[in-house]
Amino acid sequence: MSDEERTGPAAGGEPAFSPAGLTARDIHLSFGRTKVLRGVDLDVPPGGTACLIGPSGSGKSTFLRTINRLLEPDRGDILLDGVSVLDGDPDALRRQIGMVFQQFNLFPHMSVLRNLTLPLRRIRRLSADEAEETARRQLELVGLADKAGARPGSLSGGQQQRVAIARALAMRPRVMLFDEATSALDPELVKGVLGIMSDLSRQGMTMVVVTHEMGFAREVADTVAFLDRGVAVESGPPEQIFDAPRSPRLRRFLADVL
Ligand code: ADP
Ligand code: MG
Repeated sequence: MSDEERTGPAAGGEPAFSPAGLTARDIHLSFGRTKVLRGVDLDVPPGGTACLIGPSGSGKSTFLRTINRLLEPDRGDILLDGVSVLDGDPDALRRQIGMVFQQFNLFPHMSVLRNLTLPLRRIRRLSADEAEETARRQLELVGLADKAGARPGSLSGGQQQRVAIARALAMRPRVMLFDEATSALDPELVKGVLGIMSDLSRQGMTMVVVTHEMGFAREVADTVAFLDRGVAVESGPPEQIFDAPRSPRLRRFLADVL
């Protein structure tokens, strides 16, 4: 990919993002006596996109949350560009890893613009003017420049999710995590959000995407990991996972969802 193609969401003034490589190694995590993750590995090179698929309750969200330390694993390691992140400051890490949730998690009582400028001021420590400029540019990139003054509640689910993506990207993360970002959307709004996610992937962001959208995983992912009962049962390029699945469990899962 040429440098020109890589500039993407950061184009227009700000330097292009600098994606990090992400490695999760042998992640174990229990809630009480329930073992939810039992040795999960994942390796995403800088600019790569990994999709996580698997049945409900298999540990996909829990795994994503260990990556940005919303949860601490009992065992294993998370590395960014080869450096363990488990010892450092979790807030510093979350500045580098953006996350988008199924339920948007926008502040309902603030304008769209303020939803973006608040973290830019508090976390990136930008001045009011810089924060507003950055926020407006980021909103433009997700096609919502005209919604800056609106309250999130007056937007469609798809627009709210685009605001949430813009808010995460405005922090200039080096990795983006998406946890079923389109699962709460009406069907006609899914495409727009998936479009922004595939653009971001094409522009070279490092991404881990939990999704039930198998078409998206097939098209966009470099690697797909199938999680079942806390184990990455099978992982590989989309063609292998979807066209030549090896494990019976993956075959059963695909037969149910495809
Ligand atoms: P998925 O995202 O694949 O649907 P989750 O990671 O949300 O799965 O959940 C995996 C398992 O961990 C489920 O059995 C769920 O009930 C359990 N679990 C998730 N969060 C908690 C929690 N905070 N406390 C106890 N159990 C939890
Ligand atoms: Mg989940």
